[in-house]
Order: sequence, then C-alpha cells, then structure tokens
Amino acid sequence: MRSARFWIILAVLFAANILISNILTSAVQSPTVTISYNSFLDQVTADNVTSITSTGEAITGVTKKAVKDSSGTSSTKFQTQRPAFANDDLMKLLQEHNVVINAKDPNASTPLWETLLFSFGPTILLVLGFLYLSRRAASAGAGGILGSFGQSRARLYDAEKPSVTFADVAGIDEVKADLQEVVDFLREPQKYQRLGGTVPKGVLLIGAPGTGKTLLARAVAGEAKVPFFSIAASEFVEAIVGVGASRVRDLFAKARAAAPAIIFIDELDAIGRSRAAALRVGGNDEQEQTLNQILTEMDGFDSREGVIVLAATNRADVLDPALLRPGRFDRRVTVQSPDRRGRAAILKIHSRHVPLAPDVDLDQIAAQTPGLVGADLRNLVNEAALGAARKGEAAVTMADFAEAIERTLLGTERKILLSDQDRERIAYHESGHALLGLLVPGADPVKKVTIIPRGQALGVTLQSPIDDRFNYGEDYLRARLVGALGGRAAEKIVYGVVTTGAENDLMQVTRIAQQMVVRWGMSPKVGPLNYGDNDGTAFQQRQYSEATAQLIDEEVRRISEECLADAEKLLQSHRAQLDALARALLKSDSLDEAEILEVTGVKPQPGPSGTLAAQEAVRAARS
Ligand code: ADP
Ligand code: MG
Ligand code: ZN
Repeated sequence: MRSARFWIILAVLFAANILISNILTSAVQSPTVTISYNSFLDQVTADNVTSITSTGEAITGVTKKAVKDSSGTSSTKFQTQRPAFANDDLMKLLQEHNVVINAKDPNASTPLWETLLFSFGPTILLVLGFLYLSRRAASAGAGGILGSFGQSRARLYDAEKPSVTFADVAGIDEVKADLQEVVDFLREPQKYQRLGGTVPKGVLLIGAPGTGKTLLARAVAGEAKVPFFSIAASEFVEAIVGVGASRVRDLFAKARAAAPAIIFIDELDAIGRSRAAALRVGGNDEQEQTLNQILTEMDGFDSREGVIVLAATNRADVLDPALLRPGRFDRRVTVQSPDRRGRAAILKIHSRHVPLAPDVDLDQIAAQTPGLVGADLRNLVNEAALGAARKGEAAVTMADFAEAIERTLLGTERKILLSDQDRERIAYHESGHALLGLLVPGADPVKKVTIIPRGQALGVTLQSPIDDRFNYGEDYLRARLVGALGGRAAEKIVYGVVTTGAENDLMQVTRIAQQMVVRWGMSPKVGPLNYGDNDGTAFQQRQYSEATAQLIDEEVRRISEECLADAEKLLQSHRAQLDALARALLKSDSLDEAEILEVTGVKPQPGPSGTLAAQEAVRAARS
C-alpha cells in the first residue's frame, strides 16, 4: 500500500537525519578529556604529545594516541592545569620531546562551510528525500506530474490479427461452449439487437491460478476479432486515490468508442473484495473508489452497445456481492482444473512445436500428473525440452518428460552436505511417511521416496492419487493425516525425540484437521455445520461463539492426536519394515514405487476411497 510505504520511508529519513547529525557533531567535536598534571608529564615523556597551547597555567593539547581520563573517556584532546607551585622545567622537557608549543588552539572554531554543512545538510537531505517521494507517488499514479493524469494504460490488441483463438485452449470445452455465445454476439451485435435478446454485460471467469482464464479472455477477443482492452485490477491497488477510478472511466469510454469490444479486468479480487471485509482491515479508499467506478460504468451502458466486460478471479467467494448483482457480472463461468483427457489435450497443444521422440506418450504423461493445471503443463513441456536440449538430443524423449515431472512435482535437487547422523534421521522420517502410505487403507499410492534434498525439503515422499479426485472421504483425509504424521512418529520411535524437521508436516496436518472440523462437518461434537473457510486471513470475523471456538480447537487436537497415535502404533508393529526401508534409502538415496514395495514386502492397497463404494470396501477390509 502506497501510503504505508510512504510513511515508513519518511520515518527512516527522519531517523537517518538524527543519526547523521549525531555522528557528524561527535566527530567534529570529539570530547576533551581532563587529565592530571602527572599523567600529562608522563605522556610528554612517553613522546605521545604532539602540541600544546597554554593560557596562563591552563594547558590544552593534542596527543598521538588517545589518552584516558579518570572516568574512562578517551580522546586525543586533553586539558590539564599546571599547579602554581610547580618548579619543574616544563619548557625544557617539552623541547626535548619535540612538542610544538603554542600551536593552533585545538578548539579553534571550525570553518564556516563545515558548520553550515553539518547544521543544514541533514535537513537538505530530508527535503530532497521528500521531493523524491512525492514525485514517485505522482508518477506511479499518472506518469509524472505533467503526465496525462489517469489515462488508461489498457492495451489495445490488434483487432485484425488476433493472436489467440479457442484452438489454443484445450481441456475446458464446456467453458468454451459458454463463451461461444459471447463471441457470436460480438461478431454480429446487430442480429442480437434486432431480436431484442439480452446478452450478459459481464462474464466472470472463476478458477484456480494457471487454469487458463486470461488465455480464454484473449481467445474470446481473438475469435470475435474485436479489440481487447485489458487491465489488471492489482494495478490499482498501489495507485494514488482517484487514479483508479479515472482510469476505469477512461477504459470504458475507449472501449465504447471502439465497440464491439471486450474489456477484460484481470485479478478482479484484488479490488473487488467484499467491502465489508475490507473495512475490517482498515479499508482502502482507492480500491473502494475503483470498485464503485466499475459498478457505475457497468450500470451506465447497455450491452447492446457491443461492449462486454470479462473479468477473472481466483476466488469468487471473497468478491463484493454488489459485483454479482444482475446487470453486472451476472454470468459466471467456472474454469475447472483439467481432467486426464484435458491434460493430454493441453500437452498436445504445447508440444505442437516441440519435436517428440516416437516413445513419447502424452496420455501416459497426463495420467501421471493429476492436479497439474494448464500453466504447469506448459512448464512441464518446456522443462522436458530444455532437458533434451541440454543433453544434445534431437527430440524430446519420454525419459526427458519423466525427469521434468519429477522436477515439477518434487522441486529441483539441492546440493548440501549432510552428516551421516542427519541422513539417517531423514531416512527414518521419510520411511515413516512412505510406510504409512502403504499401510493405511485409502492412502494415495506412494510413488517415490528420496532423501536427496530438493527445494525446501531435506527429503520427499511423493504420493499421488490414482486419478483426479473431486470428493474426499473422511477415511482418505485421516489416511493423509496419519501419513503426514508418519515422519514425526518414526523419529520418535527410533530416537525417542522429535526434531524441527516435521514443521511442514504439522502445518499440513493442522490445515486438514481444521477443515475437517470447521468445513466438512466431520466432528460429531461440533456437528454437521460449515463455519466457513478459514483461509488464514488475519482479520476474518468469526461466525461462532467463544464456546464453539474452544470446541473446535479441542476437536482439531483430538483428531490430530488420534492420527499420531495410529501412526506410532502402526510403525511400531512394522518396525522391521521401517528399518529395512530406511536402510535401503541410506544405500541408494531414492526408491521408486516398485522398489519400495519390494523392500517392505507390502502389497499395494486397493483403490482410493473417493467414492462411497470404495470407502465401504475399505471399511469392510478393516473389520
Ligand atoms: P490464469 O489466468 O487462469 O491464471 P493463464 O491464462 O494465465 O491462467 O495461463 C497461463 C498459461 O498456461 C497460458 O498462457 C497457457 O499457455 C497455459 N494454459 C493454461 N490453461 C490452458 C489451457 N486450458 N489450454 C492451453 N494452455 C493453457
Ligand atoms: Mg491470469
Ligand atoms: Zn515429513
């Protein structure tokens, strides 16, 4: 937020000002220490005194090395008093030791420029800093003080040569069908006007990051061959109050002049967050004004003019309800993460211009990558191609893809030196995760376990669902918790103590257990209620009483503790397999699915518990 940064910089300037003044003054006027006459004579004898000035019996002078006074302050400037009864031959002593007598008074006034600099310098610095800040603020808002204030920075895409079409978007056919109507309308607005049909003014694209929302919006413009005005709502967040609103006004004016046209507001949640929620965090005038202006503009035109507003957001649940009212973004299109077939289609699009070796099977790659979205898959192809290029291959092989998948899912390998002790501990930790992944009914199959440090982690156990899953059973969630606690449980069983290595696991456990209780009604005590998604927003208002809050905490703890107990019990009763797995890991660093099964001798679990039938099967198998 601009204003916050502004004040911080200002405060820093002030502090710097005071600091600099202090340093400068103390440097120029280093203190004069008062020493006894005896120690003065000692200093002279020791050849440490360079010059003195005397006024009557008072002597001031300068030493080579700093001298200390009785209080411990040290300085190269000193003063002392020659007693009236002294009858030593001071003159002779001074000459013997080459002391300059009556040299320049050490406290002579400093030159005028120096005085001026030290007294006004910091203030000048402050003023300059202030000027810089205000200029920056002005240019952030409107391209310099003289710049066109509030001119929209929306880019105008070339309507003649639209670069992206629906052919570039794969795996989300139902969304394309929804947007086809928008395309048809933009192509022939007259047809719709004649029939008096209503076309949505605003279409909101909702979906996780990387699912292709921005791509879709551009493809709509490309298909319809109309100008595309795009702006990211996050651009307004830092702007000066009033700039956002005037940009929005300008954006709509331009688009209406160029109609038929598309206005695209990306990352709408950046400004469209519920104003009620924003108020609690202190509110932000700029966001509010920008949002109001968008609402005003959307109310102020008729969709038959040929302008359609598309917007994209990662989260529709936080949007201000005013945005979703009829006549605004009343058409909502959800962009799902692609399923297996969708992923294959997306891979195909992005490998269009990549030479693939005959062994490459995109369907199989799609099967191995549940959970990845369009942007991830594009990256995957890119990584594989880079890997192939690095090896000097003529085409990208399946092995290149396998490596790329591993890097994408596990993170890049990191070279750090671990002690044997640490390696063993990590091996046991990961073996704990992996073994429980095999033993607990309903858990995702363990694909790989490694103690090669990758990304942030010192070791990784990769579990990947058999296929896309849209619904999670309680058994599955418990299996996840038990598995996540397996690292900690193994360390406790083997070493009797736990380490910090389980932090990430515990974060995951807390999040899942909390959601089980708060969102999914999986705690009998709290009941079949949904208390909202606690997404960690600091100021989110609680929708329940203090007593319920306590109950929730208790239930979350109960579930986690039960799962930890399960984990420990299971590992204890399979200690031999745990040891075998850890030993194998220490020997070869990584084990794949087949090796894990071989070392432990465990048979792979039956299918996942995503469906009710599968859950029933698991329950039956247990009892
Ligand atoms: P979002 O706006 O939803 O975060 P983007 O549209 O920015 O996602 O997607 C980033 C990139 O990922 C796109 O430019 C495109 O290359 C690729 N991509 C994402 N989804 C798809 C898809 N469904 N089909 C083809 N490519 C996709
Ligand atoms: Mg985007
Ligand atoms: Zn772990």
